[in-house]
Amino acid sequence: MSRPLIFEISRPGRCAASLPDLDVPRTELPEELLRDDLALPEVSEGDLVRHYTHLSQMNYGVDTGFYPLGSCTMKHNPKINEAMARLPGFTNLHPYQDQETVQGALFLMHTLQAFLEEIGGFATVSLQPAAGAQGELAGVLMMRAYHQERGDTARNVMFVPDSAHGTNPASTSMSGMEVVEIPSNQHGGVDLDALTAACQQHHERLVGMMLTNPNTLGLFERQVEEICAVVHEHGGLMYGDGANLNPLLGIARPGDLGFDVLHYNLHKTFSTPHGGGGPGSGPVGASPALADFLPGPIVKVDPDRSEEDLPFYALWMPTHTIGRVKTFYGHFGVFVKAYTYIRMLGPEGLRRVGEYAVLNANYLKELLKGTYPLPHDRVCMHEFVLAGPPKDVQEADVRTMDVAKRLMDYGFHPPTVYFPLIVDEALMIEPTETENKETLEAFAEAMLQIVAEARDDPDILHDAPLQAPVRRLDEVRAARDLILRWQPEENEA
Ligand SMILES: *Cc1c(COP(=O)(O)O)cnc(C)c1O
Repeated sequence: MSRPLIFEISRPGRCAASLPDLDVPRTELPEELLRDDLALPEVSEGDLVRHYTHLSQMNYGVDTGFYPLGSCTMKHNPKINEAMARLPGFTNLHPYQDQETVQGALFLMHTLQAFLEEIGGFATVSLQPAAGAQGELAGVLMMRAYHQERGDTARNVMFVPDSAHGTNPASTSMSGMEVVEIPSNQHGGVDLDALTAACQQHHERLVGMMLTNPNTLGLFERQVEEICAVVHEHGGLMYGDGANLNPLLGIARPGDLGFDVLHYNLHKTFSTPHGGGGPGSGPVGASPALADFLPGPIVKVDPDRSEEDLPFYALWMPTHTIGRVKTFYGHFGVFVKAYTYIRMLGPEGLRRVGEYAVLNANYLKELLKGTYPLPHDRVCMHEFVLAGPPKDVQEADVRTMDVAKRLMDYGFHPPTVYFPLIVDEALMIEPTETENKETLEAFAEAMLQIVAEARDDPDILHDAPLQAPVRRLDEVRAARDLILRWQPEENEA
């Protein structure tokens, strides 16, 4: 890029702000707070605006283009959600305010809890956890607490399928429990024989099992009832990873399928922009048997302080709660967006989200499967997983990573790559429900074009991206050796 960096256009004395004259007496600042030298660029307001606008144009997001990142649900975020979350009545609240003065916020949380209970089929929901991964940690701690409360203290083994998201084994390990991996069968589902054998082997030590349905291959776990039954039979509990709830909305409820605890990813299923790691929200729902162990506080109606047609909302800690997992109320701004999203769609609208998510994924899958190998060729849910480019292309050493990088030259964000781990060269595609037919077709066209290019001249793919602001990065070095800002000396070298 030939564009000069902001440090390079810096000139001593230039300034992007003009401060008003002092209207208080001038005093010296404490010596220890002052630095002799602070390497900040000195630029005009115009230069500054151009700098940040240029940076924003180098970025890619759901508001600039198709973002088929599987397992992440980068969906359109209706702008009304942002308007609601920015209402001064919400943004000006302080978490230490008395409950009397935040009844509107508590009403919103109480209603959102009720919506999530209804959508998931659970008795009680806690909005506390900050994200899916923290919801998982809360859920597995609740499962252990449930066993311990019953005097069943030897249980410390959690089953996790080999297709699971990495956060599942991580949450289990963080809680001090032992992970036992359960293999998948050739249909991409849990191997029921292997599960039954593991149940017998770990019978007395089984805490339960974490299951994602639909799983990370985008496939509905058809044996879900059998899986729940065998785990329950051996005294275990079923944890549902609800990150993939999208296609089930208004159609099936995890609580009805046999799950005892589940986390919702509000930022995946119920909108909220979440690139760059947050903010998210990972509420946890529980069956009646586990509701007492939920993290708190939870919002409840306090009958003693309610008047006839004016309920009083109060914060409440469940009797055997695992405690707090987040300060104050959780990520309140995300609650407002999820609440708005659910309210705007209503029950029929939510069901349509699920139906279109499935329709879009299946349409795209059908457009691609003749060219890209599809290991599990059956109706998918909201996403699907391809096994990289075709064989002959892979033989010319063109891999999933090369396809992903080349897609950027076509103006598309790449799909998730190399996950789930059980598919070699995995390309995991989630189109989301709001994309139209033309966008899906344009993406498929680019994917097919890339295969044609690879057959013609594989090196184009090895060099891609050719058009992006930065070319191919050494990803291992980038992760180990983080350089988060421009460093003048190194750049001069
Ligand atoms: C995203 C995801 C998680 C983790 O959720 P976060 O909110 O990112 O912490 C867990 N499981 C699956 C299947 C996911 O896709």
